[in-house]
Amino acid sequence: MKRKRIYEGKAKVLYEGPEAGTRVQYFKDDATAFNNQKKGVITGKGVINNRISEHIMTMLNDIGIPTHFIRRLNMREQLVKEVEIIPLEVVVRNVAAGSLSTRLGIPEGTALPRSIVEFFYKADELNDPMVTEEHITAFGWASPQDIDDVMALALRVNDFLIGLFLGVGIRLVDFKMEFGRLWQGDEMRIVLADEISPDNCRLWDFRTNEKLDKDRFRRDLGGAAEAYQEVARRLGILPEGGPRDMKGPEVMQ
Ligand code: UDP
Repeated sequence: MKRKRIYEGKAKVLYEGPEAGTRVQYFKDDATAFNNQKKGVITGKGVINNRISEHIMTMLNDIGIPTHFIRRLNMREQLVKEVEIIPLEVVVRNVAAGSLSTRLGIPEGTALPRSIVEFFYKADELNDPMVTEEHITAFGWASPQDIDDVMALALRVNDFLIGLFLGVGIRLVDFKMEFGRLWQGDEMRIVLADEISPDNCRLWDFRTNEKLDKDRFRRDLGGAAEAYQEVARRLGILPEGGPRDMKGPEVMQ
């Protein structure tokens, strides 16, 4: 099938969808870190992230958090609504790690007094610099109302995900979201876009603190593919054998 490629990112490709106002999101196995300086492949990652993101977005839609997700199409693709992406990476943190620990000298693993929301301007050539609401509104990337909506949604998603992961023995340390503007006639609403998967979350085993996310790749810890599978398995969306023998949704005992 020939279709127009809209955009190719580091981990996904976006194609024109079958109907107006839709897009197809294709999940690759490619992994990058440190703004593209480190490149590799995590075998089966695309298949697993497609499933994990489907699982999470479906539940978010069910509890009234609007997302771009429509449905999964096949092993590596999902149908999503066309949105105008707000050029921000919205990070919510519950436990100190990564750039927050480096920047502020707070040891990794320190519980934060409350969830902290940070904004980064999406610009690879600038290394995604951290920005404040002042920059965002002054440069017109989002309005004060957009920011209020994004903050409220981000914190609701965080509360939901903390509980979801806690239920399967995983601590949600931090994660990144992207939001988009969904236009319906003259009406606009902000919806969750992109993906939620171990590529953009820090997930630590609750008991052992073992990392079950992309830090295994970033920090050369090994076992990234297995860690992603473990997250999917705990969420009940991956049969024991791994991504190759996935047929359809299956409830784990
Ligand atoms: N993150 C992401 N994409 C990025 C940068 C960060 O998905 O380009 C996620 C990352 O996986 C982590 C959270 O955002 O869950 C916070 O990342 P941090 O700012 O600590 O940056 P990092 O240490 O990953 O450079």
